[in-house]
Amino acid sequence: PQNLIPPPLPQPCKISEIKHTKIFINNEWHSSLKGKTFPTFNPATGVKICEIEEADKADVDKAVDAAKAAGKRGSTWRRMDVSSRGRLLHKLADLLERDRCLLATMETMDTGKPFLQSFFVDLDGSIKTLRYYAGWADKIHGKTMPVGFLRWYLCVCVCVCLQWNFPLLMFMWKIAPALCCGNTVVIKPAEQTPLTALYTGALIKEAGFPPGVVNIVPGFGPTAGAAIAGHMGIDKVAFTGSTEVGQLIKEAAAKSNLKRVTLELGGKNPCIVFADADLPLAVQEAQKGAFYNQGQCCTAASRVFVEECVYDEFVRLSIASAKQITAGDPMDPCTSHGPQIDQQQFDMILELVESGKREGARLECGGYALQDKALFIQPAVFSDVIDHMRLAKEEVFGPVQCIMKFKNQEEVIERANSTHYGLAAAVFTRSVERAMRVSSALEAGTVWVNCYNALHAQAPFGGYKMSGNGRELGEYALAEYSEVKAITIKLNDQLT
Ligand code: NAD
Repeated sequence: PQNLIPPPLPQPCKISEIKHTKIFINNEWHSSLKGKTFPTFNPATGVKICEIEEADKADVDKAVDAAKAAGKRGSTWRRMDVSSRGRLLHKLADLLERDRCLLATMETMDTGKPFLQSFFVDLDGSIKTLRYYAGWADKIHGKTMPVGFLRWYLCVCVCVCLQWNFPLLMFMWKIAPALCCGNTVVIKPAEQTPLTALYTGALIKEAGFPPGVVNIVPGFGPTAGAAIAGHMGIDKVAFTGSTEVGQLIKEAAAKSNLKRVTLELGGKNPCIVFADADLPLAVQEAQKGAFYNQGQCCTAASRVFVEECVYDEFVRLSIASAKQITAGDPMDPCTSHGPQIDQQQFDMILELVESGKREGARLECGGYALQDKALFIQPAVFSDVIDHMRLAKEEVFGPVQCIMKFKNQEEVIERANSTHYGLAAAVFTRSVERAMRVSSALEAGTVWVNCYNALHAQAPFGGYKMSGNGRELGEYALAEYSEVKAITIKLNDQLT
C-alpha cells in the first residue's frame, strides 16, 4: 500500500550566494566601523565561503546603544502587549520552518555537520525552542504574598557570546527566553560559524520585531567578545563556550558593572553501564553520545564506565559499531560523520589520541586522520582508559570514545563525580531503583537513564561545578532573563 512508502529524505539546497555578511543593528546591515572583515570556511573542503564584516568594540557600542533604545521606557517593544510578543516568536518559528532547508544547508556548509542532522536536530530544536517560549510570553506572572508584597518581572539588556558546534540552536536557546521576557539582545556568534545567525537577522526583521530588539555582531573573542563582557551598559551576559573563556567573562563582568552572568561550559560526562543493562542499546547510545556531531558536544559521553563482567563484550560491540562509521561529504544525506571544525581542533584531538597511546590506553580502532580528506578523523575507541590519563580528564571535543572498567556502584559514583565538570551524565540499567539512586548521586545538571543526548525545550539544561552557572530551557530559563522586583503598597487601613 502507498502509505508504507517512506517520505523522501530532505535534500540540501543550492546556495549560490551568501546574502547576509554584515553587522546587524537596528534591523539594518552595517559595515564594520574599522572597515575590517574576516573569512568563514567550509570545513569539509577548506574552501572560503565568504568574507564577514568584523565587529569590534565600537560596533558593539553601537549595537548596545540600539538595544538600549529599543528597550527603553515608552518604546514600541516595551509597550507591546505580551501576546503580541508571543506572536512574533511564533512568526519567527514559521519563517525558520519556511527556510528550514536553506538554513540546514547553510549550517552544514559552515560547521561540517551532516545535513540530515542539521535538518532534523538543529532546525527542529530551534523551531521547538521558539514555539515553547512563544507560549510562555503571556504566562509570566508575579506573585502576591501574605505580607502584601508583589513580585514583577521587568526587562534588562542581554548580550550573548556563542560557540560554534550548534550555532543556530544555541542562538535560539538564548534569544527565545530573552525575548519572551521582554529583553533586547546583542549577540556575538562564534567567529567560525556566523552564517545562520546573520541569516536569522533577516528573518527577525521580516517577522516584524522592532528595530534594535535583536542585534548581531560577528567578530572575535578578544575584541568583540571582551567588549561585551566588560561593557558598562549591558545588564547580563549569557555565554556558551569553554570553561576558560567563561572564567574570563566572569572576571570582566566583576571588574566592570557586576553584570549578571550565566555560563554554559564544557563537560567530561560519565556514561555508566551496569551489567543488567540492555547491552546493545547501551552500546548504541554511548557511541551516539561519544561521536554525535563528530564528538564536538559539550554533553559528549567522554567517559564510558562499564561494569567489569560485561566490559569485554561492551568493548567488542563498540569496536564493531565504530568501524561501520564512514566519514563523507556532509551535504550527502547518507553521511553520518563529517569533518572537525578547524585545524586547531583537529590537531588538538589527534594530540590527545597520541597522549592516550603514550599513557597506556589501548586504541582499539580509528583515531587517525583520513589522509585524503582534510579535517576528517576516523572515530576512535579506546579501552583500558584509567582515571588519571589526560583522555579521562580533558574535554577532547572530537570523535574519541574512552571506555573504563568499574567493579561496583559506590566506586563508579565516586569516580564519575571526581571531575571539575558536572554537565551531563547517563546511566544504563534495567533496575528502576538503581537508576534513581545513581542519578540522584551524580553531580550533573542533566542525567539520562537508558538514553543519551535527549534534550527538550521543556527541560532545564545546565551545569554543576565548572560546567557553568544557571539553567537554559524550560521554565527555569525565564528566571535567568528577568529581574524580580518586590513592590510594597501601603494601603489606607480604613479602606481594607
Ligand atoms: P570558546 O570559549 O573558545 O569560544 C566561545 C565564544 O567565546 C566565541 O564566540 C568566542 O569568540 C568567544 N570568546 C573567546 N574569547 C573571549 C573573551 N576573552 N571574551 C569574550 N568572549 C570570548 O569555545 P568554542 O571552542 O567556540 O566552543 C567549544 C566549547 O563550548 C567547549 O568547551 C564546549 O563544551 C562548550 N559548549 C558548551 C555548551 C553548553 O551548553 N554547556 C554547548 C556547546 C558548547
